[in-house]
Amino acid sequence: MDFSFSAKDEEFRMKVRDFFEHEYPREIVEKMASGASPTKADYQKSERAFAARGWLAVNWPKSAGGTGWSANEKYIFDEELERAGALNVVPMGLLYVGPVIYTFGTDEQKKRWLPGILDSTTFWAQGYSEPGSGSDLASLQASAVVDGDDYIVNGTKIWTSLAQHADWIFCLLRTSQEEKKQEGITFLLIDMTTPGITVQPIITIDGKHSLNSVTFENVRVPQENRIGEEGKGWTYANYLLGHERTSYAHVAGKRKQLRNIREAARERGLLADPAFIRKLGELETRLDTLEITVLRTLSSVAEGGAPGNESSILKVIATELAQDITELGAETYGPYVQPAFPDSVAPAWTGNTALPAGAAPAVAAYLGARAQSIYGGSNEIQKNIIAKRILGL
Ligand SMILES: Cc1cc2nc3c(=O)[nH]c(=O)nc-3n(C[C@H](O)[C@H](O)[C@H](O)COP(=O)(O)OP(=O)(O)OC[C@H]3O[C@@H](n4cnc5c(N)ncnc54)[C@H](O)[C@@H]3O)c2cc1C
Repeated sequence: MDFSFSAKDEEFRMKVRDFFEHEYPREIVEKMASGASPTKADYQKSERAFAARGWLAVNWPKSAGGTGWSANEKYIFDEELERAGALNVVPMGLLYVGPVIYTFGTDEQKKRWLPGILDSTTFWAQGYSEPGSGSDLASLQASAVVDGDDYIVNGTKIWTSLAQHADWIFCLLRTSQEEKKQEGITFLLIDMTTPGITVQPIITIDGKHSLNSVTFENVRVPQENRIGEEGKGWTYANYLLGHERTSYAHVAGKRKQLRNIREAARERGLLADPAFIRKLGELETRLDTLEITVLRTLSSVAEGGAPGNESSILKVIATELAQDITELGAETYGPYVQPAFPDSVAPAWTGNTALPAGAAPAVAAYLGARAQSIYGGSNEIQKNIIAKRILGL
């Protein structure tokens, strides 16, 4: 395994760094540093800056309108994005439904839905989880029943990220009650303006509104909005999972958080405390091991392997580390930390330049990071995968 980047990779890194320094919208970087939540317009401005360079669909093949970048180039781009403090792309269109459409969609479907993702005019939400179906997603009950050329959709989806901004939602819906519950699930794309859809906000412990419940009451959806075959939605939904998970690592973002914590600790005289130094040192070492694990995964991909089950290891160690870093952050910023106010009152305290870097969003980041071990498949579920598929237990 060779973990080093080539001279060509390093040249690429400089080009990307230059973009973030000179072309990427400054006001977005400042807003992110203040801890305020990005609006739909912020996401679009950020994504259009990437699109202008042809760098928005980082994971897509060239034939589908993507960058066609190597695994190393994607990793470098993510590193530089986080180093700059820029806004990550909204994953629902670019990482989740886009690849499903270009892999399994018809030519008409590709023409209809991919351009809006590639120029960031269409905002997507992911309708998988339900009040009674999360880890055991295949037990989902929201249904789609054929009626002429349409389906009639009924049921409730929950924890639907950014549905309040969404123009479209991609849903897993039950179209028949098969004995094997993974069968009988169909993948439908639904226009959020269709009558019968209600979006209710769920405000989380960090004071933010990113989650929602989405209720469907006799919502009429044309059959032409179905991806692939009826009853095969589970296969399409799972197809690309392992390939996307190295993005959970956020190594550069974590390095930045630890640098800020070290700096604030120095100002507060905490670096003289051996117990504090031990905690900080442990986190820095765990971040090094995370980085090596990511590079090992990339290296195995470059040698023709697939990340597959290793992505479960990455998910667990990356998200546990994120939680521990934000916990030390809240401890370090001490008297500077701001309570996690809802965004509606955030402007009163954001932009306070007297705060050390990283202090303003510290509590919201600490509270928000609790969710990382739940979404994307909870860590207990990832540990089950590691036990069964990697360790063969
Ligand atoms: C911030 C956030 C954003 C989200 N965004 C979306 C979204 O956009 N779209 C969407 O569809 N969903 C989304 N989700 C939902 C997410 O996918 C689910 O929360 C997750 O799959 C867990 O399901 P659950 O909440 O129903 O918990 P449950 O499945 O009820 O689990 C409860 C607890 O039991 C544990 N557990 C369950 N089964 C087992 C088992 N077999 N072995 C050991 N332990 C087990 C779990 O690990 C967990 O600790 C989001 C969640 C969060 C927190």
